Amino acid sequence: MIKVAINGYGTIGKRVADAVNAQPDMEVVGVSKTRPSAEAYIANMRGYPLYIADIAKRDTFENVGIEVAGDIEDMLKHADVVVDATPGGVGKKNKTLYELYNLKAIWQGGEDHDVAGFSFNSSCNYESALGRDFVRVVSCNTTGLCRIINAVDNVFGVTKVRATMVRRGSDPGGIKKGPVDAIVLNPVTIPSHHGPDVQTVLPHIDIVTLAMIVPTTFCHMHVVQMDLGADATREEILNIIEEHPRMGLVRKGTGITSTAELKEYASDMGRPRSDLWESCIYEESVSVVGKRDLYMFQAIHQEADVVVENIDAIRAMMNGTPDPLESVAITNKALGFTPL
Ligand code: NAD
Repeated sequence: MIKVAINGYGTIGKRVADAVNAQPDMEVVGVSKTRPSAEAYIANMRGYPLYIADIAKRDTFENVGIEVAGDIEDMLKHADVVVDATPGGVGKKNKTLYELYNLKAIWQGGEDHDVAGFSFNSSCNYESALGRDFVRVVSCNTTGLCRIINAVDNVFGVTKVRATMVRRGSDPGGIKKGPVDAIVLNPVTIPSHHGPDVQTVLPHIDIVTLAMIVPTTFCHMHVVQMDLGADATREEILNIIEEHPRMGLVRKGTGITSTAELKEYASDMGRPRSDLWESCIYEESVSVVGKRDLYMFQAIHQEADVVVENIDAIRAMMNGTPDPLESVAITNKALGFTPL
């Protein structure tokens, strides 16, 4: 069993912990929190040993009934690999600690590419992660872009991508973020940083991205346009999406034309936390204008799509299997991932 520690048990960390726990070849050796919180109670309820950043605060946890197993260094001693899911910018400060314990480490998209020197997406570059010590799983938006661009590029060649990201203002639990009543150009300058981030995984792709933030909490919506290197039909593009294990079609027959209805659908499917690990591409939006001008809308569940990527990254780094499709299949099956 691969022993996995999760440093930072928040939006991403708690999902990664549950996903690790579901895998046949991995176990959770610990999760960490800085302060007592609802998530700390949940860690106890799930039976994940809870470690804390500052052991001097042990009493503040135990006085409210939260069991503490030790400090983060104690947790790291039990692990083969650590998934750092601390807030963006905090993770890079932990690198010396991971090096001290000779641990393999995975960071999230809130850190720069340089933290690991390798940015990962299981559909694009799994093989290059085999046996690596340090990996960064790219952000939710970059993950969504990489999946579709790479899949289309492999068949038709992609000569240019233009994408607009309409981003959620906050995760559902975030009470301090906004906007409440605005569309915020973020950044107001064009292009946004998302294109260069895609190039950390797919360096040959010519891409320009724009981004804004809107008052919603479930999903980003991407407007994606690609110039193709060869003639394609709409049916061929739909086939690529249907056959991809990390992309799903939001079917015309469902009548779903929003993220709100998509959330209800995920919930009715029985997905834990309404999580959508796949990119959700609206079937009716997929259009080829002429023969080489491709358009689509895709919803990206920001809290979920990177979770499965973390699991595949662990398996690649630990040489669990050399085959990306096998890893993706194991990950998906363990989570009970059924098509949309
Ligand atoms: P979060 O704030 O929900 O959770 C972070 C957790 O880290 C919290 O539990 C916090 O208590 C803990 N923490 C803070 N400082 C710590 C420290 N010094 N040591 C140990 N733990 C510490 O953050 P998140 O949204 O889960 O984001 C984590 C990472 O994942 C970031 O890099 C972010 O950019 C990336 N990411 C987030 C999303 C998203 O939509 N939330 C999507 C993709 C990637």
